[in-house]
Amino acid sequence: MQLARFPRYRLGHLPTPLEPMPRLTEVLRAKGSTVPHLWIKRDDCTGLATGGNKTRKLEYLLADALAQGADTLITQGATQSNHARQTAAAAARAGLGCELLLERRQVRDDDYEASGNVLLDTILGARIADRLPAGTDMAAAMESLADELRAKGKRPYVIPGGGSNPVGALGYVGCAQELATADVPIDWVVHATGSAGTQAGLLAGLLAMRSGIQVLGVSVRQPAAVQRPLVHDLAVRTAELIGAPGAVGLDDVQVDDGWTGPGYGVPTDEMVAALRLVAETEGILLDPVYSGKGFAGLLGAIEAGRFGADEHVVFVHTGGSAGLFGYRSTFAPR
Ligand SMILES: *Cc1c(COP(=O)(O)O)cnc(C)c1O
Repeated sequence: MQLARFPRYRLGHLPTPLEPMPRLTEVLRAKGSTVPHLWIKRDDCTGLATGGNKTRKLEYLLADALAQGADTLITQGATQSNHARQTAAAAARAGLGCELLLERRQVRDDDYEASGNVLLDTILGARIADRLPAGTDMAAAMESLADELRAKGKRPYVIPGGGSNPVGALGYVGCAQELATADVPIDWVVHATGSAGTQAGLLAGLLAMRSGIQVLGVSVRQPAAVQRPLVHDLAVRTAELIGAPGAVGLDDVQVDDGWTGPGYGVPTDEMVAALRLVAETEGILLDPVYSGKGFAGLLGAIEAGRFGADEHVVFVHTGGSAGLFGYRSTFAPR
């Protein structure tokens, strides 16, 4: 597996730091839990317009777009999409236009509609081409927008939601390499899983390297029965792309769907508690949609005694704190 064979457009501050979580560990021990060695992989610090996991994916997607002579990026996401915001920043950096389609997966308040990532999208020069109702076929909507742009003489490049295709997932093969070669004997990697590219890239990379590191995805959107095959399919295709066919089996794909709550982007008490705990003990901001629920899943696994005291567990912080400003009412001062 040689990642350097794939064209890459540098956007991120990589490798990201791998840091211990000493104050959080103390607090969890005081509660009587068996606490593993806890680490946090700071992919919230990728450096692109408040950072996050889409930066790694966009390095490979941008290279592909530029190789195809594109002049405009099109992508889609929920109203407070971190992916849309990072795509807007990547487009600005590469001198490309950026057209966003936002899906109203839920209706909240004015902050949700206009602050947080939405505010940053427009500051970064992207055009919000449309806001569509929940349940819209967003892939089809992107294709018809691409047709419209082509009719105007543009050369659009369509990036799937979350940047999750095999090219995008290469970004997380890169993260897998950073983890497998870290100075820490990692046993587990835990992170929030949504459009599946992060977990697929991690699995393809870690299994291709025979690292022995297990990956637990905490689902923020779908039941495990739907999410596992989604991750598996993309991981298989990513493994083929990097020259490691057959590296990923369905048994390798572990998904915990106990922390999604009522649905995508809907706050849960466990998310709020996890987010406040990490903020107050480590000074690190998680996000309400993904990493907050992902960390709630990690805390749940620790409380359930899933990890041994001598194991090394890494939470991949996938970013998203810009979304906090879209959820002001959820975190109103106590
Ligand atoms: C998109 C996103 C995820 C989920 O990553 P996928 O590759 O879509 O599964 C996790 N955390 C944050 C902050 C995100 O924006």
